[in-house]
Amino acid sequence: MRIFTAALATETNTFSPICIDRRAFEASLYAPPGKHPQTPTLCTAPITVGRRVAAKKGWQLIEGTAAWADPAGLVNRQTYEDLRDEILGQLRAALPIDAVVLGLHGAMVADGYEDTEGDLLQRVREIVGPEVLVCAELDPHSHLTEKRVAAADFFVFFKEFPHTDFVDRAEDLWRIAVDTLEGRATPVMSIFDCRMIDVFPTSREPMRSFVDKLVRLERDDPDLLSLSVVHGFMAGDVPEMGTRMLVVTNGKAEKGEALARELGLELFAGRGTYRMPEIDERRAVAQAIAAPAGPVVIADMWDNPGGGTAGDATVVLEELLANNATDAAIGTIWDPMAVQICMAAGEGAEIPLRFGAKSAPDTGRPIDGIVRVVRLVRNAEMRFGESFAPFGDAAHIKFRGIDIILNTTRAQSFDPSLFSVMGIDPLSKKILVIKSTNHFFASFSKIASEIIYCSAGTPYPNDPARTPYRRARRDIWPMVADPHGAER
Ligand SMILES: [Zn+2]
Repeated sequence: MRIFTAALATETNTFSPICIDRRAFEASLYAPPGKHPQTPTLCTAPITVGRRVAAKKGWQLIEGTAAWADPAGLVNRQTYEDLRDEILGQLRAALPIDAVVLGLHGAMVADGYEDTEGDLLQRVREIVGPEVLVCAELDPHSHLTEKRVAAADFFVFFKEFPHTDFVDRAEDLWRIAVDTLEGRATPVMSIFDCRMIDVFPTSREPMRSFVDKLVRLERDDPDLLSLSVVHGFMAGDVPEMGTRMLVVTNGKAEKGEALARELGLELFAGRGTYRMPEIDERRAVAQAIAAPAGPVVIADMWDNPGGGTAGDATVVLEELLANNATDAAIGTIWDPMAVQICMAAGEGAEIPLRFGAKSAPDTGRPIDGIVRVVRLVRNAEMRFGESFAPFGDAAHIKFRGIDIILNTTRAQSFDPSLFSVMGIDPLSKKILVIKSTNHFFASFSKIASEIIYCSAGTPYPNDPARTPYRRARRDIWPMVADPHGAER
């Protein structure tokens, strides 16, 4: 067998002011054929797992380009077209082939392309014809469009959020692909439109039990090849935004339809119960100040660069200042211009500085004042599990008693080491303010006396009922109360 593999992925928050071009892919991952490292990034596990599967089978794996950019705003049109055409050219050169196995995200939007994955898959199908197997692994924060479904044989999505299972799901993808190529399986996709949009952390109930149930069903019923909840991505203003239930059966379309509907309606019945409890900045800061011991971690959960925002909101900082809180540290506020000024001033300097809240409305006001430059670090990095996450040139400044880290590379606050590398002992602080929705939990929960999920300002469109969508459909919950009413 000859199998072609490639990856093209990012997550596009269409409300984000951080538009990106080729440089963003080159900064995160741009690997031409054969240059992909041994360890996968979020959306490239089909390549690394594929190497192992192909070697074991004695099959030929033809690697195309792998490109991944960290979540941000709209992708430059030429950048998308160039990366797409690069991969399609490699595919043409690889013909004849038996299968195409792709790593995608599912929520990439480029200027002029609301459905980049649909566009890519349709062009792949045109090149390989109707008989060749086409499949992909995707992130559940995706838009499952009809165009994609029509072009591909099957999809497998990550089940976990946080996405701890992207390698396991790539194993599923390849197992089903091998079974199909060897004549043991005929994957058929059945999809139920849940007519909702929500947030589904699997680190807590009730989503934990729902995913466990999917895993049991897959294990116990040989007709079921793969079950996925496509969460949807509420920051992507595209026509087919929303949650879908996907059932991939072994040639049992009718059974798949019935199960997708049953599971999809069960998911819908839990609407509004999945999200973590959120409080506003006033209650969050008051609760943190009143806590008997620190460090209390306030997650500024929606100003999360991992969801495509700038990460420069100052709403929580303003609230701390209004309360004259001093025993607090903030990591991080993205402000390349302010960092440049701090770098020029040097460590120890006291300077007038404006910082933060420059990128978007409803993220607070820029802070003005005399700050002391405490510490400057070039190419700063924090720990992230077994590896490191860069947050760029960074400045630790002190302002009215509060320690603040300004940075130049947008980065989610994964780990307390982001404070220590800047000379701040996180354990010594009463309050730590960080920018992350859920990924921070694994490491910060080990040092926190308390964790507060804070929804401050509107850096991210986290309330779909109020989000000013221009392209997304409005016949889904929570825009309407009971979209299934007439049908049930
Ligand atoms: Zn995701």
